[in-house]
Parts: sequence; C-alpha cells; structure tokens
Amino acid sequence: MVVFCDEQIPFLSELLKQKVDVVLFSGRKLSNTELLKSNCEALFVRSTTKVNSSLLQQTKVKFVGTATSGIDHIDVDYLKSKDIYFVDAKGSNANSVAEYVVFSILHWHFTNQVELSASTIGIIGFGNIGKIVAKYSNYLGLKVLINDPPLKELIESGLAEKFQDFCEYCEFPEIIKYSNIISNHVPLTFSGKYPTYYLFNENNLSLLQEGTLFIHTSRGGVVKEKSLIKLKFDKNLSLVVDVWENEPQINMNLLKICLIATPHIAGYSFDGKLRGAKKLVDEFQKFFGIKIDTSVLEQELSRYKPAEKPFFSTHSKLYQQLKESRQILDDFEKFKKILEIDDLSEKSKYFDFLRKSYPIRREIL
Ligand code: NAD
Repeated sequence: MVVFCDEQIPFLSELLKQKVDVVLFSGRKLSNTELLKSNCEALFVRSTTKVNSSLLQQTKVKFVGTATSGIDHIDVDYLKSKDIYFVDAKGSNANSVAEYVVFSILHWHFTNQVELSASTIGIIGFGNIGKIVAKYSNYLGLKVLINDPPLKELIESGLAEKFQDFCEYCEFPEIIKYSNIISNHVPLTFSGKYPTYYLFNENNLSLLQEGTLFIHTSRGGVVKEKSLIKLKFDKNLSLVVDVWENEPQINMNLLKICLIATPHIAGYSFDGKLRGAKKLVDEFQKFFGIKIDTSVLEQELSRYKPAEKPFFSTHSKLYQQLKESRQILDDFEKFKKILEIDDLSEKSKYFDFLRKSYPIRREIL
C-alpha cells in the first residue's frame, strides 16, 4: 500500500514504514498527478495542503488524516460524498496553545506592569483550547468570562455539561467591553448560525478597553486585521498574533506593532505533535486493520506530566520557566527578520521555513 505523508509530521512516517510504502511530500506542493501515479490509498496532511476534489479526484485515496485541529483546509463534504474516511488531530495541541496564551499573559503583565488579580479574561470559544485556557487563567488569578453560543445551546438542550463555576457566561460583544484580556479559540467558519469569519471587526473591536491585551491564536480570518491595526494606537492595545490572514503572505504592518508575533506555531510543542501522530496512527491501524508498533511514540509521550495549580502561584517563576521551555520571545525575534526581506515570495518562504524548521519544545504545564 502507498501512503503519502507530510514530511513535517514527526514520528508518523517512521511508524507507517513498518508496514506500508511511505512517500514524503512538502505541504504546499502535493498534486493530484502524484497521487494518481502512485495509487496512493491514504494521505496525511497539515494545514498547508488543501484537500478537495481537485487534489483527490480519480485517486484511490480512502483515508485522509490531518495532523491539525483546524480543518478549514479540508473539504469535509467532498470527502463524505466520496466515502473517504477522515480523521483530525483536534485537541492534541490544545495544551500547547494554552501554554502560549499563559506565556503571553505573563509577558504582558511583567512588561506593562498590569495587575493580574484585577484583570478579566474574555475567552471566546470554549472547546478543547478555550477550556484549558480558562482553567489556567483561573489558576493565574484572573476573572474568567466566556462566550460560546453553539455550546450554550447544547448545554440548554441538555446535550453538553454545564460551564464550571469559575466561568461566567457573557454575550458577544459585551465580553469585549468587560475584559482587559481577550483570547479567541473558535474555528474559522463562513456559514451556519454562528459564522466566525471576521467575528472581530471594526464594530466590536471599537468596544475594547484601553490597554487591552488581545491574543489571536485561532485562525487567520477570524479577526479583521485592518480594524485591529487601526485601533492599536487609539486604544493602546497590546497585540499577540500567531495566526494571520493570507498565510504565508502576512501583513507586515500588523507584525510591526505586536507585543509578540509568531508564524502560526502556538500549537507546535513537541508533545502536541506526538499526541497528534498517535491519534492518526491509531485511526489508520483501525481503518486498514494493520498492526503497527507504537511503543517509541508512547515512551516519548509518557515524559509529559501535567502541572497542578500550585505551579501557577509564583508568576515570576512560571514566566521564567515558560520563557526557557517554549522560547516564544526567541521565535518572535527570528520572525521579525521577515521585515528585512524585500521580495514577497521570499517573505512567504521564510514564514514556511520557520514553521518547517521549528525546534523541539516540550510542554511544562
Ligand atoms: P474546538 O472545536 O474544540 O472548539 C471551538 C469552540 O468554538 C466550540 O466550543 C464552538 O462551539 C465554539 N464556537 C464556534 N463558533 C463560535 C462563535 N461564533 N462564537 C463563539 N464560539 C464559537 O476547537 P479547538 O481545538 O479548541 O481550536 C480552536 C481554534 O484554534 C481553531 O480555529 C483551531 O484551528 C485553532 N488552533 C490553532 C493552533 C495554532 O497553532 N495557533 C493550534 C491548534 C488549534
């Protein structure tokens, strides 16, 4: 059997090679012709590969796995219509993103001398990531407001568990008014009852409090960057941006005014990648009935130990530890070098290069 695997997914290809022929590819370059020629039956991608009818038509692909949480690069309806099995890695890098958010809050706190015990975080989207961000925010001593209308509806119909006691539900856009830290964790959606494309725009961003920390780690397109840039100086905002409209062609004017800016790596902890690979290989084994030895992966995964509440009590210590383990400020320094590159396509290549060559960073929370 021939399986195509994005070269950036750690461990996966090594594991698959035990039983199948693996062809490695570079995310943005995969073509329908290659899949057709090789009789590929399973495909493993990251967010840089658009999986749709033009990529898969006439091929033998019956299994698609993405090593990402977001699935806006996948035409799920097309896969369903062709009876192609689909699996994502939702949740596997949630803790990595939450760590990034905690680090951003602490960096803002120490840089701007803002009192955390007098601060309120507004979390929009209370799924895998939003829930962990809420828990850690509570540990940090923040007041926690949340907004998630689809989930609220499920709770009201008895189909989901109630929000925890420390979380106060708040409607949109009030949550923007009442918080001095905003972090959104919604998917990018264009239709349905609660679409998130440009969820944050000039109408509601203008309600932000003076001096707010605005953290954006969900997906480019959820925030209208032009409006954010316009408001940055009027409102003295601190901006942390990890995801961008039109990646890998990112807005340099936004990058220049960020407290922290990174090339879509908030979820790039090594532990997150391992969890993602484990989920994909498990589903692959079940689907094709093939047994693969995953003990190496399990051994690596067992090195992760979750942090308890006391770990959050000394903010300066936590800040130092996260600074050393995740090195997000180093990522920012490297990313800023994109400003020195003149050629647009070289800028895009540099964005991709930073993601491709991302070093091993372990989670500590
Ligand atoms: P999830 O599906 O577990 O949770 C999303 C939540 O958003 C759900 O509870 C849903 O009800 C809610 N939601 C949907 N529409 C909403 C709306 N209009 N208003 C408020 N809430 C709404 O997703 P997740 O795994 O927590 O991921 C969240 C986002 O983070 C996704 O966009 C994902 O692509 C992104 N992500 C980014 C990185 C990164 O590296 N920066 C890594 C992982 C995930």
